[in-house]
Amino acid sequence: MTESPFNAAEYAVGKHILVRAQGVKKTYQRGAEITHALKGIDLELFRGEYICVMGPSGSGKSTFFNMVGGLDSPTAGRVFIDEVDMAQLNAQELAFLRCRKIGYVFQSYNLNSVMTALENVTLPMTFAGMHADEARERGMKLLGMVGLGDRWNHRPKQMSGGQQQRTAIARALANAPSLLLCDEPTANLDFASGKEVHRILRELNEAGTTIICATHDHEMLAVSSRMVWISGGEIERIAVTRDVQIVKASLGDVDDSGATANVPQQTGASHA
Ligand code: ADP
Ligand code: MG
Repeated sequence: MTESPFNAAEYAVGKHILVRAQGVKKTYQRGAEITHALKGIDLELFRGEYICVMGPSGSGKSTFFNMVGGLDSPTAGRVFIDEVDMAQLNAQELAFLRCRKIGYVFQSYNLNSVMTALENVTLPMTFAGMHADEARERGMKLLGMVGLGDRWNHRPKQMSGGQQQRTAIARALANAPSLLLCDEPTANLDFASGKEVHRILRELNEAGTTIICATHDHEMLAVSSRMVWISGGEIERIAVTRDVQIVKASLGDVDDSGATANVPQQTGASHA
């Protein structure tokens, strides 16, 4: 079995582009120190896809997510969401886009520590102008969906890492975003909690949410539609997941996630 090379034009046929990154570069400057975190990323993400982004620490994954999510702006290049150039939006339009169209899930959960699970989940609804009763009802429904219906009154400190991450997923879904950005969502979780997060993300994708996820977790890779490898701020490789054989790393070859994705005819850690 050999891997067929990724043919972007063929893959795009009949698909609706949700995100288009065009020549995205990001340079950070701190004093005399200049870091070229992204060196020109071109990537199209289609509606309904589940894309896993891989790459070693420092390769630019989070920086790329920040650009796609409109949390930061590129030094050069453009990001389009639904063919709208994010650079053309004013502050209010950008806030609307971030609040309504994009959900964010981070490795470290980023919950508000003084708020209950329900308050965390309903906060973005309040920002979006939803009535408090409706927000509460929707918040309870979302917490129920991630298996936390009975924990709505708990604060982050009273929850396990897995429960906090599930709360963060419910919060990300507050305003029914079309795009979910997950930056290493299971990196801090134990195996069972990670599995639960996989299941939730898979179900969300099956229900129509487009997901882009930075991960090395082989269970997530397995359910993805495409895999993208980033190295040194550049896209190194793109593959359609069904063309790639995903294998668990053998002992001695284990990276920090405990899994790797190898292509049959290649050896070694091709992704990192
Ligand atoms: P990854 O998520 O793949 O680990 P990052 O996108 O966080 O990588 O970082 C890419 C590079 O950009 C790294 O060299 C990192 O040190 C640098 N970097 C990230 N954010 C900043 C920042 N705010 N200021 C300066 N350098 C940064
Ligand atoms: Mg990162």
